[in-house]
Amino acid sequence: MNLTLTSLGGAGTVTGSRHLLEAGGRRILLDCGLFQGLKNLRLRNWDAFPVDPATIDAVVLSHGHLDHCGYLPKLVREGFRGQIVCTPATEAVAEIILKDSGRLQEKDAESANRHSYSRHQPALPLYTEHEAIRALKRFSPLAFDQERELSGGARLRLRRAGHILGAATVELRWQGRTVVFSGDLGRYGDPLMPDPEPVSHADILLVESTYGDREHEPVDAETTLGDIIERTVRRGGTVVIPAFAVGRAQLLLYHLWKLKSQGRLPLIPVYLDSPMAIAASRLLEQFPDDLRLDREASRRVCAVAEYVEDVEHSKAVMMSPHPKVIIAASGMATGGRVLHHLKASGRDHRNTILFSGYQAAGTRGAALVGGAREVKIHGSWLEIRAEVAQLPMLSAHADCGEIITWLRGFKAPPRQTFVVHGEPSASEAMRVKIGRELRWDCTVAEAEKPYSI
Ligand code: ZN
Repeated sequence: MNLTLTSLGGAGTVTGSRHLLEAGGRRILLDCGLFQGLKNLRLRNWDAFPVDPATIDAVVLSHGHLDHCGYLPKLVREGFRGQIVCTPATEAVAEIILKDSGRLQEKDAESANRHSYSRHQPALPLYTEHEAIRALKRFSPLAFDQERELSGGARLRLRRAGHILGAATVELRWQGRTVVFSGDLGRYGDPLMPDPEPVSHADILLVESTYGDREHEPVDAETTLGDIIERTVRRGGTVVIPAFAVGRAQLLLYHLWKLKSQGRLPLIPVYLDSPMAIAASRLLEQFPDDLRLDREASRRVCAVAEYVEDVEHSKAVMMSPHPKVIIAASGMATGGRVLHHLKASGRDHRNTILFSGYQAAGTRGAALVGGAREVKIHGSWLEIRAEVAQLPMLSAHADCGEIITWLRGFKAPPRQTFVVHGEPSASEAMRVKIGRELRWDCTVAEAEKPYSI
């Protein structure tokens, strides 16, 4: 029977990951992510879903990042009634991320109405926290390396992808073909996450290419982080680290803990000012089998920071004139408490804003890293005089060499390989590299184009 693949997102961009598989009138959606970054991308979240959500049999999630699961509440509101299958840890991560996303959408709409900076009157949230909770009721976790038959007859297996807690590569055997989706691949030798597990066979492969055109520099993360903190503290300043609440924030805690245990961290307070990052840090102790650290080590890593749960405490931290490190979400400064910290710290040249990962085009993070000295926050322009630095080596994503390492795990070239999840130049570079190093034919998937596979 004919099998069709259509990338409804996560093609030509790193956000909005959604790949639709169709056979004999049945539909399975791989990932159901939110578009983030540039306004024309974000606006796509408001478009009607290209197929009727009620006709989708099942959704399989590679992992719980917002750009892979953040559209689910809208999909469920618009009629999706099937199972959402992912690993147990991804379910826990998605719970944190989706509830937060619903809350943020409500808050943004409310604030746009209050300050009337939206062109839409009244501004509505994309979805609410309540709708996020409704979507969570459809989750049906599947442990790594177990098999399950999905509605429609496809057999599913999830394997470790590294990247973040719970992240999986997806193998679907359907209509006599094996489709493998890399999801987001992690790095080899990450201190917290296991290496991406090799997969030996695929007829059709979807491989990510976030860093398809880049090799991560072999820089010592701890030393760089320690140096930045030290020179900021010497100026009497504060280091504000916008961090992805899940994954990056915990990796930062790990490196700070290492610095502290080696006596290389100045004696200043470290705050984790993000209820979502705090909840994600607590998950480390809950899923030791999915990590390289045991429970006790996870507990010690998390204890390096003081948790800032409520807004009053967050304000007190912000007002304190003393040098400190503040880790707050979101990682690309697109929302969350970090915006308040940027407003409080951004104007003072003694402070440092330290970005800790990939900055998608169109975000405040990308603008600042690119040299912008003015950013718009909550409707007003803010002059930035603080030092702006970046720790790209803390990426949770494999670079192009590491993606090739994972691809070498296949015993034979897949019949068709689609490069997805990258900016156009990164995906094209990945396609060329796969052709050159592995001699595989591959295609950069075009968004919305149905491929017969
Ligand atoms: Zn991810």
